[in-house]
Amino acid sequence: MTPSTVVNMARNSVRFFRHIPKLNYNFKPISSISSRNTETQNVKTEQQEVRRLEPCQADSMLDMGTRRIYSEEHDIFRRQVRRFIQENVIPYHEEWEKQGHISREVWEEAGRQGFHGVNIPSEHGGWGGDFLASGIVMEEVGFANVSGLSGFTLHSDIVMPYLSRYGSKEQIDKYMPSMVAGTCIGAIAMTEPTAGSDIQGIKSRAVKDGDGWILNGSKVFITNGYMCDLCIVVAVTDTSAKNASSGISLFLVDASMPGFTKGKPLKKVGTHAQDTAELFFEDVKLPADSLLGKENHGFYYLMNDLPRERLMIIIYAQAHAEFMFEETRKYVKQRKAFGKNLSNLSTIQHKLAEMKSEIAVGRAFTDNCIELYHHNQLDSSTASIGKYWVSEMQNRIATQCLQLHGGWGYMMEYPIARAFVDARVQTIYGGANEIMKELISRKIIKN
Ligand SMILES: Cc1cc2nc3c(=O)[nH]c(=O)nc-3n(C[C@H](O)[C@H](O)[C@H](O)COP(=O)(O)OP(=O)(O)OC[C@H]3O[C@@H](n4cnc5c(N)ncnc54)[C@H](O)[C@@H]3O)c2cc1C
Repeated sequence: MTPSTVVNMARNSVRFFRHIPKLNYNFKPISSISSRNTETQNVKTEQQEVRRLEPCQADSMLDMGTRRIYSEEHDIFRRQVRRFIQENVIPYHEEWEKQGHISREVWEEAGRQGFHGVNIPSEHGGWGGDFLASGIVMEEVGFANVSGLSGFTLHSDIVMPYLSRYGSKEQIDKYMPSMVAGTCIGAIAMTEPTAGSDIQGIKSRAVKDGDGWILNGSKVFITNGYMCDLCIVVAVTDTSAKNASSGISLFLVDASMPGFTKGKPLKKVGTHAQDTAELFFEDVKLPADSLLGKENHGFYYLMNDLPRERLMIIIYAQAHAEFMFEETRKYVKQRKAFGKNLSNLSTIQHKLAEMKSEIAVGRAFTDNCIELYHHNQLDSSTASIGKYWVSEMQNRIATQCLQLHGGWGYMMEYPIARAFVDARVQTIYGGANEIMKELISRKIIKN
């Protein structure tokens, strides 16, 4: 493969994913890809094939070209995403943190470059790439420490799959093209001021009105809520159902509908560039075709799709832990104390060793979950194990890495400070970790 072929493939990287073969373990040569300082030197096996290293074996855990679940085609895509973030996100992220949300321009530029709806089937207007490619976008957000972009994943890997799986042809045709282009931003609103962990306790109601519905209620903590153009709203549609879970439906609600209002981006402990808002619905007249999927099947859809949401949290948590480790390694290697670099002190070396071990174990489980999902085999309990353990590990790493930066780590101008505050929410949303333990233990007891 010539360098120009690689460049052309990179330009059309997402289209190229239509041809990605199924995951396999025949290690392929990647020597044809030009080597850059962020790419790892993989090892040759006796058969002269190049075996992809695991991140803990590479010079840096952020190196490209590692991990056996990925292929050289994925590396090309990853390089594209990394460049997009370098050029279109990093220079603006601080400004976005001040305003509480990212820009419309970056949504649209990501759309032009093919980063929305990567894993949505092409017959539904997406790019038809595999789930592994979609995970790359999330990972690169973690590696670059730009949490403002995590709304991309919610849009592409949570909202769009609902539309793709449960939407009618008309609904898909109406929304998918602009969602892929990044001109229609998606959100999903389950949580209410009095119902978070207990979704069955929601009070928002949609009442039949002729062919359509009238929606009333409010939602809180909604990612992309401030910028969203389309929101999947979870509402009670049957108050007489024998249990709350069988009386809940999902609705596609346009932000332009009269009666739908948004609060300002909420002021949070971290993830300052990620917009999170309250939403209010006052006598919103919904047409009949705003119902997503079947009436009163909403709870079932949510339960079915939550493992994917949790997997996206795992993927981000793992990549972010790797970022924090590498950032800290760099820091202690140049910070002087007692006449030498911090990295010369054995206590510091042991701390790095402990962290690297934890992260390496997390990577093995994370990649296992990605692979299981890729094969439609990720069950709720396994996703919960990953969400619980990897997000807790991410927070342990954040605390320890900040500590190794001393007072500088407490200053927001240092990336580790931002990483520390951004990591905190990971154990709370997507189902708090206490709920993850409930789900894990239920299976243990049942079995
Ligand atoms: C930044 C951010 C973004 C979010 N984005 C979205 C979004 O896009 N869409 C959306 O719908 N929601 C979103 N959420 C909401 C999030 O999913 C909820 O905050 C989460 O599910 C917890 O619900 P809660 O805040 O009501 O806490 P509560 O349910 O009140 O829980 C409080 C505490 O009690 C614990 N607890 C509750 N029940 C049990 C139990 N049975 N056993 C043991 N412990 C329990 C919890 O684990 C938690 O520690 C977001 C939240 C944040 C902070």
